[in-house]
Amino acid sequence: MTYRPSAGQLPEREAIPTPYTWDLSHICRNWDDWMETYRELDAEIEAFKSRQGTLASGADALTGAFRAMDRMGVLSYRVWYYASLRYDEDQRNNEINARRQQVQILFAREHQSGSWFNPELLAIPLETIRHWMENSPPLALYRFAIESLFHEQEHVLDEQGERLLSYASRSSSVSHESYAALTTADMKPPTIALKSGEQVALSYGQYRAILETNRNQEDRAAAYRTFHQIYADNRNTYAALYNGVLQRDWFHARARGYDTTLEAALHGNDIPSSVVETLISVTKERVEPLRRYHRLRRRVLGVDSYRLHDVSIPLVQHDARYTYEEVVPWIVESVADLGDEYQQHVHDAFNGRWIDVFENTGKRSGAYSAPVYGAHPYMLLNFNETLDAVFTLAHEMGHSMHTLLAHRAQPFVYAGYTIFVAEVPSTLSEALFLDFMLTRADTASQRAVLLQHAIDSIASTFYTQVMFADFELQAHRLVEQDQPITAEVLSGIYSGLLREYYGDVLDEEPLSAMTWARIPHFYSTPYYVYQYATCFASTARLMQDLRASDRAMKSSGVDRYLGLLRAGGSGFPMDLLKTAGVDLSQPETVQAVGTELDALVSKLESALTV
Ligand SMILES: [Zn+2]
Repeated sequence: MTYRPSAGQLPEREAIPTPYTWDLSHICRNWDDWMETYRELDAEIEAFKSRQGTLASGADALTGAFRAMDRMGVLSYRVWYYASLRYDEDQRNNEINARRQQVQILFAREHQSGSWFNPELLAIPLETIRHWMENSPPLALYRFAIESLFHEQEHVLDEQGERLLSYASRSSSVSHESYAALTTADMKPPTIALKSGEQVALSYGQYRAILETNRNQEDRAAAYRTFHQIYADNRNTYAALYNGVLQRDWFHARARGYDTTLEAALHGNDIPSSVVETLISVTKERVEPLRRYHRLRRRVLGVDSYRLHDVSIPLVQHDARYTYEEVVPWIVESVADLGDEYQQHVHDAFNGRWIDVFENTGKRSGAYSAPVYGAHPYMLLNFNETLDAVFTLAHEMGHSMHTLLAHRAQPFVYAGYTIFVAEVPSTLSEALFLDFMLTRADTASQRAVLLQHAIDSIASTFYTQVMFADFELQAHRLVEQDQPITAEVLSGIYSGLLREYYGDVLDEEPLSAMTWARIPHFYSTPYYVYQYATCFASTARLMQDLRASDRAMKSSGVDRYLGLLRAGGSGFPMDLLKTAGVDLSQPETVQAVGTELDALVSKLESALTV
């Protein structure tokens, strides 16, 4: 029985045929089984307390503690995801929400009852533990976990220092919370009148919708200016809040003995500052493909002026629909180059009810892949038959295969991977899918739609994120050099960046200098967005090998890539990528993105002129 979502009315969950829903019984058979698992975890947490004070007695005690933490970890995955995924099926369900919160409370207790572990471990000299590991293979399994804890320890203060920092941490989120309150809770969306006469309340969602779908340039300009004017009107408040973020970061970096805020942000993953610096400088040298794309857009759109509010409107209008049934075999076929085993896993994901496909009332929006240890990855989609939805499926499938291969190959302690590598498989999976779709597109306009999708994702996931990272770095450096931070200073940095990246392809728009004020990541998670760009560069580099006509190079590329997926979190991310043949300290790796973009723009140009 096939099912297709219909526009307009949302179905109740019961109306969706079972094969399109996920089967969570692979995590827990039912709520009784869940309750039993919950109690088991609760008991493990209680029992863990008795290990306090034992670690220094030797390899067996330390191994025992690590294994107990693994057991708690495995149970935590099952207890959390069963409740959490059930909740996402219909978020109106208060009873399930209460169970979900019950798990969060248990996790807080788990955290508290294990808080003695790191300090006690770190009090043992590393040399002693290394000696234990030489004579105890079971303990040696935890080598990387132990070594990276000591690596972090380099910047941990004495007890009094840590206590002071913990007092300070309570105020460290005030800037971000104030930003969020000012931007969402206290924001009254202004209303604009469109050319059609329609009145629109300009929430962020409406603003994006107008920029992406409204083909009337005046409407887009009005939406853009009205939206950014709100930030301009509050520019001094936003600058003061952002200054709060910068000052906090500099306080923490100095308190912990780092030379710069960037160094402090990268130390945990052992990433040298030069990676971010190279990313920015190489990208700035290779902005020509980006500018070339925007010149092409300007020409094809046939507009006299071209500004940021014109960069999101599709060049080719299309309303193609892709049914889930037809897409499934395409996704499977697109990964053929990765080998039979990989392809079989993708098959299993589709046939084993790992995916919750369609929207229903109360279901969580968006899409994700949940790495449920002990079961298998689950994917939540809201598949609406658009091209975006199809690429989202390819993206989440990439995450899921990463999870699956890592969970199978690694012991629990290394099964999880860091964000620094997480977006490599997802974007690579999208790249393979694009290649597949291009080979089967039989009209120039189909090709153009696909190419534009790929190019826009490079523009927004790579170039824009590098520009954001560039902004964050420049702003933090001003604070490190005791320079004042004002709205004028921040807008000055931003308009400088727009000139450096876009050159003369964008016409003057004073309000664009205010963009810094509205980017949530700047306030919530500084020095985070660069990781999207480094993942993208890693993917572009890997795809060069996967697309190689030389068979040996191609199969070596496939092996190295699958090795990266299987490696999970068993090493520092730069090392794992290096083993896969991606050296992010080298300019060539970053240049791979520009090369790829240039090739795609050429293809788009010819698809549009046929
Ligand atoms: Zn992702």
